[in-house]
Amino acid sequence: MRFDILTLFPGMIESFLGASIIGRARKNGILDIFAHDIRGYSQDKHHRVDDTPCGGGMGMLMSVPPIASCHRAVYKMGATLKTKTIYMSPQGRTLTQNIARELSGYERLIILCGHYEGVDRRAVELFCDDEISVGDYVLTGGELPACILTDCVARLIPGVLSDSECYETESFMNGLLEYPQYTRPIDFEGHPVPEVLLSGDHKKILQWRKRQALELTKKNRPDLL
Ligand code: SAM
Repeated sequence: MRFDILTLFPGMIESFLGASIIGRARKNGILDIFAHDIRGYSQDKHHRVDDTPCGGGMGMLMSVPPIASCHRAVYKMGATLKTKTIYMSPQGRTLTQNIARELSGYERLIILCGHYEGVDRRAVELFCDDEISVGDYVLTGGELPACILTDCVARLIPGVLSDSECYETESFMNGLLEYPQYTRPIDFEGHPVPEVLLSGDHKKILQWRKRQALELTKKNRPDLL
């Protein structure tokens, strides 16, 4: 799967998505992730990409022309791919595992990151098919949200996680939170690992995990039940 991230700060994207499991999948050719610098598409002689809001108000808005040129050029780079363009925005639908699953069915996502006060609305209406929020709070830019979206969609792509890192039993995959997990040492300062996990009785372990997942979900996220 291919991700094209349109941003004023490509370094922020690379530093996160170049490492760990996603970095490994890129090296293995399972994922293609490109961060495109919108500033490079500015026609302004000072490479300006923002302007004051019409009608007045605080701060600066990213203007349409550089976003338009960047999107058009990037779109052409994979014009045959089944593509969706997403604007990361606190005003979008809130990201969930189900939305991640839905988006993993595309061959390519183009992700627009806003900054400052956001983007001129026409950039969203003309070039974006969807708006996604990472939660009901406001961040300084869309770069972290774009990395979050890319990470959670990418890990659903076959081959990105190894068998031992499989996501099937993880939180939200079956409507519940995941059961608590433990590793060595068996006893940490008088706090032991639950005995059932050391019993070797797989049926009992499965039952214990199901019960724990249910109890944890009831306690922390009753809205999921
Ligand atoms: N003025 C906008 C508003 O009130 O809705 C907020 C703009 S925010 C300071 C700048 C950029 O950060 C946005 O254009 C968006 O790309 C990104 N952003 C901020 N919070 C976000 C969130 N919760 N989810 C996704 N993107 C977010």
